Amino acid sequence: MRMFPFLKPTLIYDNDVTKIRLEDIEKLGVEGLILDLDNTIMAPKSARLDPSVKAWLDIMKKNFKIVVLTNNKKAFYLEAVRQVLDLPVIGFAKKPWLFGIYEALEILKLSNAKIAVIGDRPLTDIWLGQRYGFKTVLVRALTAHIEPRWKYWLRKLEWSFVKRM
Ligand SMILES: [Mg+2]
Repeated sequence: MRMFPFLKPTLIYDNDVTKIRLEDIEKLGVEGLILDLDNTIMAPKSARLDPSVKAWLDIMKKNFKIVVLTNNKKAFYLEAVRQVLDLPVIGFAKKPWLFGIYEALEILKLSNAKIAVIGDRPLTDIWLGQRYGFKTVLVRALTAHIEPRWKYWLRKLEWSFVKRM
């Protein structure tokens, strides 16, 4: 039974973002990426890029237009992240709603079908992507192994819906 079709990603990775291969994204036929920040490409509140994620990002930067979309509201943190990533970073996104999306689309200048959203949360990143006709890629959180227990269970619950579809 498909209870939550709006949460069904185009691709599911039972692994973190660094395991997404370039050819997998190319097969989606997209030219731009909207990346979630927290737990997708960076540990929350860290403003630090893991070397494995940096290597992955360098490959993606060469092949796609990229913007980072986050619900984070702290201006000085967002500026630090911008410096570290060397990418456009849009804060206050209020995912899964439309705030932030217009700004992302203005930067990418692509039709929605040419864009993939990559994120770790079905209820924000994937839902957002489905609403706007983007391709969607669900990944495991970078810091899943060091999270508090309640977060672990919340994720487990969200993923159980996605995997049932
Ligand atoms: Mg996230």
